[in-house]
Amino acid sequence: RSRRRWGRVVGVLKEFEEACSTSVGRLRQVVDAMAVEMHAGLASEGGSKLKMLLTFVDNLPNGSEEGSYYALDLGGTNFRVLRVQLGGRRSAILGHDMERQPIPQHLMTGTSEELFDFIVSSLKQFVEAKGNDSDLSPGKRRELGFTFSFPVKQTSISSGILIKWTKGFAIADLVGRDFSECLQQAMSKRGLDMRVAALINDTVGTLALGHYHDEDTVAAVIIGTGTNACYWERTDAIIKCQGLLTNSGGMVINMEWGNFWSSHLPKTSYDSDLDKDSPNPNDQGFEKMISGMYLGDIVRRVILRMSQESDIFGPVSSKLSVPFILSTPLVAAMHEDDTPDLSEVARIMKDVLEITDVSLKALKLVVKVCDIVTRRAARLAAAGIVGILKKIGRDGSGGITSGRIKGGSHCKMRRTVVAIEGSLYTSYSMFREYLNEALTEILGEEIFRHVILKVTEDGSGMGAALVAASHSARN
Ligand code: ADP
Repeated sequence: RSRRRWGRVVGVLKEFEEACSTSVGRLRQVVDAMAVEMHAGLASEGGSKLKMLLTFVDNLPNGSEEGSYYALDLGGTNFRVLRVQLGGRRSAILGHDMERQPIPQHLMTGTSEELFDFIVSSLKQFVEAKGNDSDLSPGKRRELGFTFSFPVKQTSISSGILIKWTKGFAIADLVGRDFSECLQQAMSKRGLDMRVAALINDTVGTLALGHYHDEDTVAAVIIGTGTNACYWERTDAIIKCQGLLTNSGGMVINMEWGNFWSSHLPKTSYDSDLDKDSPNPNDQGFEKMISGMYLGDIVRRVILRMSQESDIFGPVSSKLSVPFILSTPLVAAMHEDDTPDLSEVARIMKDVLEITDVSLKALKLVVKVCDIVTRRAARLAAAGIVGILKKIGRDGSGGITSGRIKGGSHCKMRRTVVAIEGSLYTSYSMFREYLNEALTEILGEEIFRHVILKVTEDGSGMGAALVAASHSARN
């Protein structure tokens, strides 16, 4: 009998693994779908699940910026204020001061008055403490770059309407209003002389910081709690905005790629259930297969099913039915457990899921589940990145051989840099390895050599100051 039960568990696992299949062929279909959806989202408002939002960022910092700029980062659990001093001519960032504090829970669902009180008084304190704006000429206002990681319909580089709150925030009277105008008023009212020079999404900050250090940077990806990407697009390709003119001929597009969907995505019944149980069903489908908020819960659902099908984990633990009890960092810890007896996996099963005395053979199955979920996530993220490269003609498909240098085999394929941030890529090495492996598989070694994934640090804060600088009247 026990052999039959074991067989059932292996069956559950096999079925899951097959449903999660990300063969190169399948990934190429995802690449194509991403590029097609990008076109559709640029063609018309609502033309795709990809919103392809205009950012009005029409030039990226390049190292020539000078002066002192402030940045404010309001995105999720933390709130940060920074001051960045820029030395111009690539002498780079002279220094930055930063203060980080958690946003008090009650402010997330309180009144707009309370939220702005908190923001402006933190800013004021910071300005007073860092005081000496030696490079601020008399009569010049301080300039602020503001990273606001919520969906915003941008109306200019420095203004935009809040579409909806996410991540636990709910302050009803701010939805539908211009958040930076509200902030500007709050600052004036409280006597803080500062101008909101740029309002940006966090991915745009990552791209700005990446481009500041390396001008071949054309796109940015964040894979953390959620996932999103942005990239540099030619204005004539932004069809939904006829007559859009920029000096540079281009603009950064915020894809909001977490909402991407395609029938080619390897969706399982566990994904469907997770989606159904979420507060935003049918939304953010790509994100739900890739980002840190969800991977742990997919793993939990598979283990629950395995436990229900057999007694390899003893009686079914009630903990296995608690949504989000298994976080993605725990998945990473189990996945990367290199002890011969998988003691870390056993510890997590015991401490978090209250499942004890699991055989080594069964622990190995848990590791396998973590591997399947993470590998699929990383490979899909890679396909998304190649989708962007394809859209902008940097995937090598546009006739790389025509660029052969006479008499040699070198290609003229341009160096392409993608800035990347977020804990999944930076702190989960198996995720990072799988992502890079998939990039090589899809692009081929030759082209992969010209594509560089570069980790930036704190783009959401620094990037906002840089965008403020590159769009300020002073530059
Ligand atoms: P943000 O909230 O700004 O996206 P991060 O990029 O740090 O911040 O991402 C946090 C997410 O990454 C969380 O969902 C967390 O579960 C996940 N995470 C954090 N550290 C790790 C890790 N070492 N391995 C795997 N996932 C992690």
